[in-house]
Amino acid sequence: MVETPTCPVVGRFAPSPTGTLHTGSLATAVGSYLMTKRCGGRWLLRFDDLDTPRQVPGMADDIMATLEAFALPWDGPVTYQSRHREYYCDAFATLTRQGNLYPCGCSRREIAQSSSAPHHDDDCVPYAGSCRGGMKDGAAIRSWRVTAPADEITFSDRCRGTVTQNISTFSGDFVVRRGGGEFAYQLAVVVDDHLGGVTQVVRGEDLLPSTPRQIHLHQLLSLPLPEYAHLPLVTGPDGSKLSKRDNLVSVQLAAVAGHEAALLVTILRFLGMRPPQELAGYSCSQILTWGMTNFSPEAVPWRGNCLPYLI
Ligand code: GLU
Repeated sequence: MVETPTCPVVGRFAPSPTGTLHTGSLATAVGSYLMTKRCGGRWLLRFDDLDTPRQVPGMADDIMATLEAFALPWDGPVTYQSRHREYYCDAFATLTRQGNLYPCGCSRREIAQSSSAPHHDDDCVPYAGSCRGGMKDGAAIRSWRVTAPADEITFSDRCRGTVTQNISTFSGDFVVRRGGGEFAYQLAVVVDDHLGGVTQVVRGEDLLPSTPRQIHLHQLLSLPLPEYAHLPLVTGPDGSKLSKRDNLVSVQLAAVAGHEAALLVTILRFLGMRPPQELAGYSCSQILTWGMTNFSPEAVPWRGNCLPYLI
């Protein structure tokens, strides 16, 4: 079992500026904020803006305005992944020196065809390791992969309890850099969390399956591990995961119509708390102060849900 330090606490919220905050990402921000602030920790804001084609101009400002409207102030300067390239290069060089990386010339289609293992999702078809021993003659480099560890990774998630994954069968050797030179999320997030001194990663449970790969990278790079807590996703009325395009109106409408407090109280309930009805009559920061003393990661329900909206 991987052990993680707990003090002093540094948490973070790391949205991708590809759209306005939707109710689900706001709930993640609130959960992360409360988990950090209940221990008197520092809460950082970082924009995960590596995926350049998906960036929408102005969204970072929009997200900051939403956090301010809900009284979620971050500590210290805002950081941007796109400005951390030199640190990713250093980590990449370390992994290369260690012999834990290799270039891969396989296309997505070849990977899907060569994998007999069940696919967990579109992004994670287990890679059969075809290029481990070298690429086919004349193939162009499409990515660089880190060799998956032989042993399972087991860690304790503050919300989900003990989580075990065998990276070899889940994703296989995984991509840390693309052929064009861009760094992949799995490497960037590990380097960034270390740069920020992050001790606590609280985020949506869609990223739970990525966590063992990140733990493996932390270990290869000899970086201290944060603790992890994965919050349930807010779903649409049909139970589906919210996309950036869905449901963002309710956050904006709540802010425009002065219903931030009511939405925050709904989010506290979603996170497993039992706020008294009258709390909705208080200010956002008073509601969050109540949340700091009442939030418990162990009480967060496992299943996401549709949040009822107010307007
Ligand atoms: N940037 C990711 C997102 O917006 C979150 C990354 C993380 O928390 O590790 O979903």
